[in-house]
Amino acid sequence: PYDVLVVGGGPSGASAAIYAARKGIRTGIVAERFGGQILDTLSIENFISVKATDGPKLAASLEEHVKDYDIDVMNLQRAAGIEKKDLFEVELENGAVLKSKSVIVSTGARWRNVGVPGEQEFKNKGVAYCPHCDGPLFEGKDVAVIGGGNSGIEAAIDLAGIVKHVTVLEFMPELKADDVLQKRLYSLPNVTVLKNVQTKEITGTDKVNGISYIDRETGEEGHIELQGVFVQIGLVPNTEWLGDTVERERGEILVDKRGTTNVPGLFAAGDCTNSPYKQIIISMGSGANAALGAFDYLIRN
Ligand code: FAD
Repeated sequence: PYDVLVVGGGPSGASAAIYAARKGIRTGIVAERFGGQILDTLSIENFISVKATDGPKLAASLEEHVKDYDIDVMNLQRAAGIEKKDLFEVELENGAVLKSKSVIVSTGARWRNVGVPGEQEFKNKGVAYCPHCDGPLFEGKDVAVIGGGNSGIEAAIDLAGIVKHVTVLEFMPELKADDVLQKRLYSLPNVTVLKNVQTKEITGTDKVNGISYIDRETGEEGHIELQGVFVQIGLVPNTEWLGDTVERERGEILVDKRGTTNVPGLFAAGDCTNSPYKQIIISMGSGANAALGAFDYLIRN
């Protein structure tokens, strides 16, 4: 069996695997897609000490770094279930079962899509999901934010300081964000809020040039010319495969400051946890943290 089995091969999983292997313990990593979300990222400018890179490049160096250690890398394998017996047993979709004394779950998350025409087509060509990451790319331009919850309104406030104008589109008749955020939003001169509207299409040619929506009260259609659309309708943790083995809140695995879950020996790191901010540098830190937590657990058991 493994001492540490890492499930998930994004920044947090890679970091966890390297930290575990550096303790000289038997380490494996299973990933459906090694690299994770960064594979879909065009430009990365906030990975401190690297001025600018892109996702595929960073993913390749993650893999190279992991392969520099004695780590079993099982790429293109999806975990389908987990059970704790004497050891943890992680079942893969292909039927294989991996046994380990401890497990670090780092299966990340995915942005919830609005599912309108243009969204897939213009991903990274004007359709964005992360204002901390991509906001500066839209400096001086007009953008929309889809979603009027806390993340949408935080994004709109953040973007209003960078871009020329922000239009917020909320499906419901009222914004769901906290009052303080709404007050701050309405105090800004370059923001328009459209409530009770349904996004119909993100339009463009080779990149985004506008957004069409339907006013849900009148049924009338509207169109705004702009260069960017931020989709902010939630992040979905990839934790469905865990069944009811571990405590979660809105899908996010609850961890303490050592990355420990409510199940002894089961740790979690990165975007699949209740960590408040989801970023590469943060998920790498939390992967390292969970690996050290797992090592502590192993030497005590
Ligand atoms: P992920 O990167 O989501 O990795 C999860 C891993 O688990 C993947 O290998 C996946 O294949 C695997 N997996 C999932 N389910 C299973 C399963 N059942 N079995 C086996 N493996 C599984 N952050 C920044 O700091 N700067 C940026 O510029 C930036 N830009 C971004 C742009 C985009 C378009 C997106 C989507 C995100 C961006 N982020 C950025 C956020 C950043 O990518 C994430 O915070 C980070 O990747 C989280 O790392 P993670 O390892 O926790 O999860």
